[in-house]
Amino acid sequence: MKLAALRIPAPLRGFTVAGDAQVFDVTLADGKVASIVPSAEQTHARGTLLSALVEAHAHIDKNYTVQDVGAAQGNLFAAIDRMNKHRDSWTGESLRLRMERALHDAWQCGTRALRTHLDWVQPEPPAALPVFEALREAWRGRVELQFVSLTPLDLFADLAAGERIAREVKRAGGVLGAFVYRNEGIVHKLGRVFDLAQQHGLDLDFHVDEGLDAEAGGLRSIAQLVRARDFKGRVACGHCCSLSVQDDAVANETLALCAGAGLHIIALPTTNLYLQGAWDRTPVQRGITRIREAAARGLRASLATDNVQDAFYPYGSYDLLETFGLGVQMAHLAPATDWLDTVTVNPAKALGLAWDGRIAPGCPADLLVLAATDEHELIGPRGRQRTVIRAGEILENNPEKNP
Ligand SMILES: [Zn+2]
Repeated sequence: MKLAALRIPAPLRGFTVAGDAQVFDVTLADGKVASIVPSAEQTHARGTLLSALVEAHAHIDKNYTVQDVGAAQGNLFAAIDRMNKHRDSWTGESLRLRMERALHDAWQCGTRALRTHLDWVQPEPPAALPVFEALREAWRGRVELQFVSLTPLDLFADLAAGERIAREVKRAGGVLGAFVYRNEGIVHKLGRVFDLAQQHGLDLDFHVDEGLDAEAGGLRSIAQLVRARDFKGRVACGHCCSLSVQDDAVANETLALCAGAGLHIIALPTTNLYLQGAWDRTPVQRGITRIREAAARGLRASLATDNVQDAFYPYGSYDLLETFGLGVQMAHLAPATDWLDTVTVNPAKALGLAWDGRIAPGCPADLLVLAATDEHELIGPRGRQRTVIRAGEILENNPEKNP
């Protein structure tokens, strides 16, 4: 297959270019990219080439429940409470239907890998775990799946509970996680999570500081623990909203610690635009973390979907390019083309995928051809129209997503 006259955004290039070519002809063979050469036509691109998308943070156990539970209108703890009550009604079959619907949507949109958090609020594994494990097998080759246990940090104060969770996460090949926000004794409890990760050889992924309280310092504590423990696993930190309302000096010091600790930061624009900021008047605050200041320190964040049609966020889909478009506008990420690593290369690194998503001869032919011919068209629905290519073959199933 030959793909002619496509822009390849600079952060996604795994090859060097002589001169200043921006538009390329790409050939595919045997499921891989065979060659990339500057196109004879440099002024009229026919589209934009991306590597397939990587979803770093989702909740496929909770999605599509908003009609049952109602939207929480900006109240994170009301949403947690509603989902806690609804969870009692979850069955293997209802979970499987919800999870499969999410995976179909993500796959058709061009997502090649997805990490989901699974609610894990007691020592025993949740009903979602065996369903997830079966789907991980069934979807192999289409969407590579990872899971994180999502446990209230306070539960780790119970040593036996933490041990039980960590053992089961290890058995099932997952990542250990916790919801961290202004907990009492936060450093001690986080230390326990690090103990478990080190004892069991687990990576970590936190929901951290998801609120607009400037006093919340979970992110800083995590960065300090990584360094104090010389922790060797991967550590992802989702949300980090409080960073946006802290004094510049405090926030910058935290970001320097994060960069030094090699943390991966994941911003969730849809859910945090909805949950954070005022609801009794027009909101001014945006709830987005400091993506640009992090990048200035070499810490390239990911953008991810988080909730879809549940109490936390009642809208949305698994189209990461829609999330990307919102993130570009919320955080003023310009030019947009330079930030396409937030949904490709950066999450691939955060998840430790075999391929980092940089396009080069010999890389997998898991690609998206977008209709957008420049950065301004990237944000609109026409520019987002796409052809999904997996293992060198065009994915035909969904005409709506194809040009
Ligand atoms: Zn989340």
